[in-house]
Amino acid sequence: MGETHSIAVFAGDGIGTEVMPEGLRALNAAAEAFDFTLHTTEYDYANAEYYAKHGQMMPDHWKEQIGAHDAIFFGAVGWPETVPDHVSLWGSLLQFRQHFDQYVNLRPVKLLDGIKSPLADRKPGDVDFYVVRENTEGEYSSIGGKIFEGTDRETVIQETVMTRTGVDRILKYAFELAQASGAKHLTSATKSNGIKISMPYWDERVEQMAQNYPQVTVDKFHIDILTANFVLHPDWFDVVVASNLFGDILSDLGPAVTGTIGIAPSGNINPERKFPSLFEPVHGSAPDIAGKGIANPIGQIWSAAMMLEHLGETEAAQCVQSAFETVIAQRDSSLLTPDLGGQGTTSSLGRAVAEQITAQA
Ligand code: ATP
Ligand code: MG
Repeated sequence: MGETHSIAVFAGDGIGTEVMPEGLRALNAAAEAFDFTLHTTEYDYANAEYYAKHGQMMPDHWKEQIGAHDAIFFGAVGWPETVPDHVSLWGSLLQFRQHFDQYVNLRPVKLLDGIKSPLADRKPGDVDFYVVRENTEGEYSSIGGKIFEGTDRETVIQETVMTRTGVDRILKYAFELAQASGAKHLTSATKSNGIKISMPYWDERVEQMAQNYPQVTVDKFHIDILTANFVLHPDWFDVVVASNLFGDILSDLGPAVTGTIGIAPSGNINPERKFPSLFEPVHGSAPDIAGKGIANPIGQIWSAAMMLEHLGETEAAQCVQSAFETVIAQRDSSLLTPDLGGQGTTSSLGRAVAEQITAQA
């Protein structure tokens, strides 16, 4: 018997509730094939229905309840008709992120065989990198305010906060990831030519950290030209590390160049494993397609693969990854969801991946 992993499951809203069963199907197929045990507990909060009933997204005791799990598997939260977007986000995901100190936001960006990229002439091997985003400080501090309100001198100020601890720990994570990869190459996103205090500090910490990783080649790009190069030269990148705001921008641009947001996964990670990390697809609850059974479940399934990797089930993680890549590469349009050019459904694609996991294990 292998290990037991305890997982907190939140399906959320809209297509979150449709793709989550397919994520669980993949996890269960992997657990069976690789002989480990998953204890999944599905929670009925952190969704719009709970908010409608209770006026808050989560019960007061969520910290103890969820903190006891090894990981959190999340669908997508938000239903603007019932709960304002900022309330659903701040009341659930961002609470997890803060309380469980998930200071790394990790997003693989990979063009898969069988998916058409909006970039002409790009082949799968050309786009395969990670965006590592700082998830807790930087430009998203709420320090600042408004003065001379209502006058023609009205002024707002919002501070960027970078702590040495905060910058160094995200850089260390990114350097470790680069060191463990084949390319041993790291790109830092900066803007030290325009932002004169915080970004030069970021650059300085990068240079300092680089001394601990002599095998890793480091380059840096200003964020403006970096976004251009994501489109023009995605093959230049392996691991890209960025502050909170720059990482936010890059981690949406990344999935865009890989063809559909429906496949993109993410991890909100506490690398020390002091707290549970959270794995979720990049997409939202997509009210426009919710209830139709056509949401692409690959983002949820890929997130499951990342979670397995984090839990130390490396073989199982690779099998899940290889299974969905195989199914997509087979280009069977009766299985693939409409965003991939097919006529299939969430469950036709999810089932095909689960069967492939069993077959490949
Ligand atoms: P959020 O506010 O949480 O970022 P959003 O409403 O802005 O979410 P999404 O919910 O991610 O954005 O949807 C953006 C677009 O992508 C929508 O048109 C949606 O239909 C499409 N989309 C999102 N996820 C999927 C998916 N899994 N499969 C197919 N299409 C998707
Ligand atoms: Mg939205």
